Amino acid sequence: EASTQELIARRNRLLGPAYRLFYEQPVHVVRGEDVWLYDAAGNRYLDAYNNVACVGHCHPHVIEAIARQAAVLNTHTRYLHETILDYAERLLATFPVDLGQVMFTCTGSEANDLALRVARTCTGGTGVVVTRTAYHGVTGALADLSPSLGLPEPTAPHVRLVSAPHSADDDTGKIFASHVRAAFEDMARSGIRPAALLVDTIFSSDGVFADPPGFLRPAVDAARAAGALFIADEVQPGFGRCGEGMWGFARHGVVPDMVTMGKPMGNGHPIAAMAARPDLLKEFGARSRYFNTFGGNPVSAAAGMAVLDVIERQRLVENARRTGTYLRERLTALRARHELVAEVRGAGLFIGVELRRGASPAAGETTKLVNAMRRRHVLISAAGPGANVLKIRPPLTFGMEHGDLLVEALDQALQENSI
Ligand code: PMP
Repeated sequence: EASTQELIARRNRLLGPAYRLFYEQPVHVVRGEDVWLYDAAGNRYLDAYNNVACVGHCHPHVIEAIARQAAVLNTHTRYLHETILDYAERLLATFPVDLGQVMFTCTGSEANDLALRVARTCTGGTGVVVTRTAYHGVTGALADLSPSLGLPEPTAPHVRLVSAPHSADDDTGKIFASHVRAAFEDMARSGIRPAALLVDTIFSSDGVFADPPGFLRPAVDAARAAGALFIADEVQPGFGRCGEGMWGFARHGVVPDMVTMGKPMGNGHPIAAMAARPDLLKEFGARSRYFNTFGGNPVSAAAGMAVLDVIERQRLVENARRTGTYLRERLTALRARHELVAEVRGAGLFIGVELRRGASPAAGETTKLVNAMRRRHVLISAAGPGANVLKIRPPLTFGMEHGDLLVEALDQALQENSI
């Protein structure tokens, strides 16, 4: 059995240095089951970060659906097959009627890339507004729209960045909308026509801002008034994570022009998609061509369908609401015991815990804490412009007992002298 250090050296030798691993001491995972990941030595880790394993690692229903379909047919998506249609019907039934068509890709990045192409084709513009610490994907076009990558390139001329809200006050929506309006005005002054406002419906890499519900709506109105389309990135909040229906945008009382989704969709099997207003896809189809060899292939469609089955049968949206509320309450109670814990926010099982020393973001302490939690076998991460927000995003099967384990580990880690 190769040691973790040997594996890391081998990985660097074979894959090069650009891929990053989680944690100072990466976990060598060999097996997953529900909310647990197991390392080579048989230790188990509570996976409270992995929104890919949406219905829990290696869910038997999903495995069975994948195996059954793989044994019959998996193919290039330019052959006519029915699984993609069955899945499209099921998926579209979770959306408001206006979002009546869906195109499949393999990754969230491809879905966002496609949404941008559609927006640019249909508006005739190129300009895009995103949040200041956004992450929307790895493609060349999206690197400019993903400032959280921290790439050295200057921001492209067609991109404008707006700060995410920093509080959940009544006027948060108005303030955010004024930033969005100003960004589109600035764009117009440079002679750049607007194409899209592209934002997460819970600001994720910007620091997990979810409240107040509805705060996105005035910004969406401002974007549309400027002639832009609203693309909702649901790669993280989507599929019931927010605990209120399937989609984060519903919390804001808006219907996007396009919605992109990915990560949890196939419970780890690569499938992603972009749902859109049919009139947009009509225009796009008249002027452009698109195909995606693996996107929505029979096996990934079967995986996606099985994930929807499990979300419904195990009432996981309700669990996200119930367990999420409980977990946020317990985390909030830590504020009384630890000065560092400044704010707990989020919706359902999408939770951010902001750490501050007085008024300053406690970035160093946050990194230490994430690694201290990993030593205690609880896996979480960090986000936000100040890198000082613990990000908690477990599988939707997370129970209150798992929440208790997480809070106790966090309480102890915060007590460690080093933090
Ligand atoms: N949008 C958001 C909000 C994401 O978090 C991610 C992935 N971290 C993406 C898009 C890109 O998805 P993928 O990695 O599947 O390409």
